[in-house]
Amino acid sequence: MKLIGAHVSASGGLENAPLNAKNIGANAFALFTKNQRQWFSPALGDAAVKAFMEACVKYGFTADSILPHDSYLINLGHPASDGLEKSRTSFNEEMKRCELLGLDRLNFHPGSHLKEISESDSLARVAESINIALERTHGVTAVIENTAGQGSNLGYKFEHLAGIIDKVEDKSRVGVCIDTCHAFAAGYDLKTAADCEKTFAEFDRIVGFRYLKGMHLNDAKKDVGSHVDRHESIGLGMIGIECFKWLISQDFTDNIPLILETPDEEKWAEEIAMLRSFEAKQEAK
Ligand SMILES: [Zn+2]
Ligand SMILES: [Zn+2]
Repeated sequence: MKLIGAHVSASGGLENAPLNAKNIGANAFALFTKNQRQWFSPALGDAAVKAFMEACVKYGFTADSILPHDSYLINLGHPASDGLEKSRTSFNEEMKRCELLGLDRLNFHPGSHLKEISESDSLARVAESINIALERTHGVTAVIENTAGQGSNLGYKFEHLAGIIDKVEDKSRVGVCIDTCHAFAAGYDLKTAADCEKTFAEFDRIVGFRYLKGMHLNDAKKDVGSHVDRHESIGLGMIGIECFKWLISQDFTDNIPLILETPDEEKWAEEIAMLRSFEAKQEAK
């Protein structure tokens, strides 16, 4: 089964996220479990946890269909000790929030070396940060997202993801999320089915589909290799519709959250319906 949704708003209370997802015909969703522009938020109260869990049950969402995203401020590969420490504390708290909410994965961008340390040093810090978080939490998988490679951001090569995983002690609680816009911007072509075959064969060889715990389905405003992270609505960007048809036809996209982060929220219901129509065609074959 394909679990398709979008990164929905949780404003007014986390329990609004499942409802917002249901309203656009989603059977998966992503959310921020706290204000993503702040380092720290007050701890979750029992009532908030209960309201979220009840809404998930009511609208039919289980943990495997939910992909929470952490704060944009966190840099787990930070070159300076104070920045690294603050990031690790904030990340540990986010992992803990997921655990409390009954969620089983947390999606995050690996980090940036800020041109102060080497890529490999920074990647080692990311892995160490994950090890610390996994030690302090239970049942939540750390899901590393690939990036477009803007600025000094790490994670634009599949080798970066594999290199981090290699240094994580508990391999059962580390995974990856592939964002199509980011992969394309980083130089992995996805325009045709043949391009997709090649890119994902490389992903499987270097990282492995067993680590794939979610995907972000976004078209891209800029062409392949631009290193610019600008999402576009599905089928309207430089990647084009073939990639998304191909992805929906693949077994590796079964039973993981497939999340739209496309810019026009008004189109989400339509985009989800379109992706589902590709699934229906697949089943009819
Ligand atoms: Zn993304
Ligand atoms: Zn992005």
